[in-house]
Formats: sequence, structure tokens, C-alpha cells
Amino acid sequence: MKVILDNGHGRDTAGKRSPDGRLREYAYAREMARKIAQDLKRQGIDVSLLVPEDTDVPLKERVERANRIYAETGKQAILVSIHVNAAGNGSTWFSARGWSVFVDPAASQDSERLATSIAEAAGNIGLTVRMETGGRNYWVSSLYICKHTNCPAVLTENLFQDNREDVDYLLSDAGKQAIVRLHVKGIIDYLNSL
Ligand SMILES: [Zn+2]
Repeated sequence: MKVILDNGHGRDTAGKRSPDGRLREYAYAREMARKIAQDLKRQGIDVSLLVPEDTDVPLKERVERANRIYAETGKQAILVSIHVNAAGNGSTWFSARGWSVFVDPAASQDSERLATSIAEAAGNIGLTVRMETGGRNYWVSSLYICKHTNCPAVLTENLFQDNREDVDYLLSDAGKQAIVRLHVKGIIDYLNSL
């Protein structure tokens, strides 16, 4: 099984930063994706970084890349898209905070199980997992990358880039380790359950 890591936006995507400029989503997601890839590879898991370049690769192209990999692996791939949430457009601080994971409304059971597994890992690491109405630990929303990729796909929103406490934590060594560990643990638990 190949794990496809999507690191989201590019250097030239508008907004997508903390109001004080310390955290930029494209850079943070890339740093996390590289570290997650390293850890997974160390455990013998095949990983592909969907966007090795720093520029903004349009969603359509990202989906095409993912679907090509899924076809090439004989449908033996999953996708995790890594993001940092925002309550606004990056111009001011907000109070919303916490961790969440999303699947498409038409998601496969595998997508839902992958989301559940990563959310459980996030909770076990001590992060506040934002709960969807109905008590699910994953959120259902129509997001392009999850909707149009053929493989099981989830999108993680790793705390808020416009919440001061979240940004302080995200930029700390402990915070970075937690974000990496929850993805690695959640993905491996899911793979072991297949
Ligand atoms: Zn994002």
C-alpha cells in the first residue's frame, strides 16, 4: 500500500498564514509531510509526496497525479492531505482552535476508517479533536481533493493558523512532533487493520 501525502497550497497561494506571519501554511504542511514521509519510510511503508515543488499546484493537477499513482499501484494507495485550519483570511487572530479531519459526503468506508484512525491518534496524543455534530470524530464536507481522488482520501486540519495558542504550539518542537506522530500512528493503525 502506498501512502500519498498532499501538502496543500503553494508559496504563491494568497492568505494561508498566521496574522503575525510566523506560520505559513504551505511551508508548514511541507515540513510536516516530509517528516511524516521519513517516519513512514523508516517503518517500511511506501510513500509518495504529491507536491514536491514549492509552487501552488492546482487541485485538478494534484488529483490527476494522485489518480495516476492509484492506477499505477493497482488501487493500492491512500491519500492524506495536510493543512492548517483558519477561521479568517490571515489578517487577524480568532478564538477558534483545535484539530480536525474531513472526508467527502460520498466517502468510502475506507476513507471514514482512515479518518477515524487518524483522529483517534490525535486525541491519544492529547490534541483537542473538534467533534462533528452526532459525535463523530471526523467531519463531512465537500472538499475538492477528497471528492475527486479515486483512492481512500482524508484531509487533516492541524489546529488553527489564526489562533495564537495554536500557532505557538504548532511552531514548538513538541507541537511539530505531535503533528508528525499522529499522522504516522493513525496511518499505520489503519494499514494494520486492513
Ligand atoms: Zn489549507
